[in-house]
Amino acid sequence: MPYHLSASKLQTYSRCPRSYHYRYEMGLPSASFFGAAGLGTALHKTLQQIYGDWHYQAPIPEYEWLESCWLKNSVALSMNQVQEGREILQTYYQQYMVAVGEINRPLALESKIQGTFLAENVEFNLTGRCDRLDWLDDGLELIDYKSAKTVNLPDPTTVDLQIGLYYLALAQRYHKSLKQLSLIFLRTGEKVIFPATAEHMQKVREAIGEIALQLRSDRQWQPCTGDHCKRCSYARYCNAVKDDPEPVPEAEIKPKRQLQLTLAL
Ligand code: SF4
Repeated sequence: MPYHLSASKLQTYSRCPRSYHYRYEMGLPSASFFGAAGLGTALHKTLQQIYGDWHYQAPIPEYEWLESCWLKNSVALSMNQVQEGREILQTYYQQYMVAVGEINRPLALESKIQGTFLAENVEFNLTGRCDRLDWLDDGLELIDYKSAKTVNLPDPTTVDLQIGLYYLALAQRYHKSLKQLSLIFLRTGEKVIFPATAEHMQKVREAIGEIALQLRSDRQWQPCTGDHCKRCSYARYCNAVKDDPEPVPEAEIKPKRQLQLTLAL
């Protein structure tokens, strides 16, 4: 069985190998920082339907098409949320359809991104997902919709790893380079673009190589302390921040998986 690797796993490892070990190797549950996002989910589904089910026989749809998709996907929301979502879609329509003058059928919508990578004779399955994948003239644009109330940009290391992983996986699947990752903040209409380069892919190759070495060798999973320790679900078990750490409860530890090594010929 190949070893599964996602952008969030890579990000966890780059923040602190020890927390990666607690979370993904020992399988300890982690606190969730995300609450229910009813409006955000409804907006994502609506945009998926707007782009996925439209006929593309005119440069852009009439606004009524967006409204009809919204009505189908917002049935579980309160009246205030329905109105809030409608206003968000009206802004989106003006900015990303009327102002642009033409929309094209996306390459993929709400889809999985998958690839493989071999490092130190360990086979990795790379997985991720995207809200929308578009063709550009000279490559691919990966689009993520954000429905948070404020425009919070992810930290640069996190974005770089995400871009690098997607670059690697998309090149295998589509034989095209990822040109940019775009975040569209639905509430403000703002679009933030992160250009992608082959350097991002190289950094991810190196990061995966490090994980492969850890998996194959003595698995020390060194702690890396910092501000993030304040939000770490495993701080009570960690001797880097606690003089007298609690033992990890045996019942919580998942059985160790056998690492299958692949022989590169
Ligand atoms: S408390 Fe800090 S050093 Fe310890 S596992 Fe968590 S993030 Fe890593």
